[in-house]
Amino acid sequence: MSKLQVDNVSKHYATRSQPLEVLRGVSLALEAGQNLAIVGPSGSGKSTLLSIIGTLDQPTSGRVLINDIDVQGLSEPELAAFRSRRIGFVFQDHYLLPQCSVLENVLLPAVPLGPISVETFQRAEMLLERVGLSERREHRPAELSGGERQRTALARAMINGPGLLLADEPTGNLDRTTADRVGQLLLELQQQEPMILIVVTHSQRLAETMQCRYELDAGVLRQLAGLR
Ligand code: ADP
Ligand code: MG
Repeated sequence: MSKLQVDNVSKHYATRSQPLEVLRGVSLALEAGQNLAIVGPSGSGKSTLLSIIGTLDQPTSGRVLINDIDVQGLSEPELAAFRSRRIGFVFQDHYLLPQCSVLENVLLPAVPLGPISVETFQRAEMLLERVGLSERREHRPAELSGGERQRTALARAMINGPGLLLADEPTGNLDRTTADRVGQLLLELQQQEPMILIVVTHSQRLAETMQCRYELDAGVLRQLAGLR
């Protein structure tokens, strides 16, 4: 079971003049099977919030609990292991390794967890099938279309069976049709393996396919539509 609780999270950066307040008292509570879109103008703190939820960055104040674990209480090695097992990331850029095949790229996040088992290998193949890339498994990223690269990145994010999938502008580099396909796949993957899905997007179309929508404006999170 997956549970995410964001409690009154604020983030400030020290600057030469007054501190820059990037997030102001952001709170959220989500459970497995729920999905959420966060929209908002550029610079409003969306990526910062996603990084904090994904344990890549720390809040100035407030807490993030994942499965009731206060992630700030974990040491750096514990956090790295926790992140590998529990959290999947998809970014606007695919960040695939150019020298590795599609299949190898999908397997990469499993490498820090130990020797690749037969089950993990089969899972990679199953995920490639789900994102429609079985025929491309031996291709290098340069031999793929933009949509295929992003679909590879989706399969990679899913390899360790995360309870929390975080996507930051996952369709930002794609044309409309390809973006629709990637958005649809995100939701399909979530239906097949109940997790929490948070998508930051500029796309109104993608946001509207999510169960609920929030807007981040100048660091304040406000619900626009959906559950609750
Ligand atoms: P968004 O993803 O909504 O476009 P970001 O979360 O990337 O916004 O950034 C929010 C604000 O925080 C921006 O004004 C940005 O300049 C500022 N910011 C981000 N990282 C840092 C940092 N390391 N130091 C200072 N300011 C930062
Ligand atoms: Mg951003």
